[in-house]
Amino acid sequence: MQVIERLAPLGHNCRCGESRWGFRGITVHNTSNWSNGANALAHANLLRNGWKDKFISWHYVIDKDYAVRCIPENEVAWCAGDGNGDGNRKTINIEICDNADGDIRAATDNAVLLCADILRRNGITNVSGHLFQHNHWTGKDCPYDIRRGNPYNWETFCNKVQEKLNGSSGGEVVDQILHVGSKVKFNGVFKVDEVIKPNSKFPKGALGCYKVCYGYPVGPEDWIPCGPLATCNSDGSNENYNGVIKKGGYWKCDKVFTVVSIKLPTRHLTNGVAILEADGVRFCCDCGPLLEV
Ligand SMILES: [Zn+2]
Repeated sequence: MQVIERLAPLGHNCRCGESRWGFRGITVHNTSNWSNGANALAHANLLRNGWKDKFISWHYVIDKDYAVRCIPENEVAWCAGDGNGDGNRKTINIEICDNADGDIRAATDNAVLLCADILRRNGITNVSGHLFQHNHWTGKDCPYDIRRGNPYNWETFCNKVQEKLNGSSGGEVVDQILHVGSKVKFNGVFKVDEVIKPNSKFPKGALGCYKVCYGYPVGPEDWIPCGPLATCNSDGSNENYNGVIKKGGYWKCDKVFTVVSIKLPTRHLTNGVAILEADGVRFCCDCGPLLEV
């Protein structure tokens, strides 16, 4: 299971940047957002857009594919509904997605892995007294699905986390936070919004794609050299590494890049930006669409 990072913007109500006051454990939620597409990345994007000025946030939101870190673990998130109580102030809050087009069992299994990983890193070997339902803090009917045994009940959830804690450590949770030296691939199929002709910096031309997988841009100021990319269909089929990239078309890339530098978030992008190198050209790319390999 992969952990990726789409941090909420600092200084908005969703992320005040204050430190947690301690660690009592983990509070577990279901998003109760059954809409198609309401997956982990969609929720991460809410905190970066329409919900950023609400006092609602979470450290992680998890679906069948990813645990997305939205608030750093050492900061407070507003999820438990108990104001300055221990739920908000002293636990790490995780939301499990229950979107209709997701997979509640896979998402909940991923939450088990993440809980074990967090507890282990905090030196806890027994889940007893360290896993909380949102219900514990305020009486809210949350985590809605787990409380109805979907895909299994709370006791089973806690037992599964304990089993993971009892087992060998590591290997099941893969941190996808990028650093200098990280090896990365482009994760997905991208639509071409713009192509620039060859010039001195980009001898084979370059392209921009501003709204790509998960609705998240490669970066509005970023140009990617066409050289290492393949043209393809929108589903990734028919890849052609000798094809000519055209506006409105699609591309993918199986090549592995090395992160040579990281730029801090810009006014456009709340993620870090990775600097990669290809065709002798250094280029920027938002960390979002990059998968560490
Ligand atoms: Zn909740």
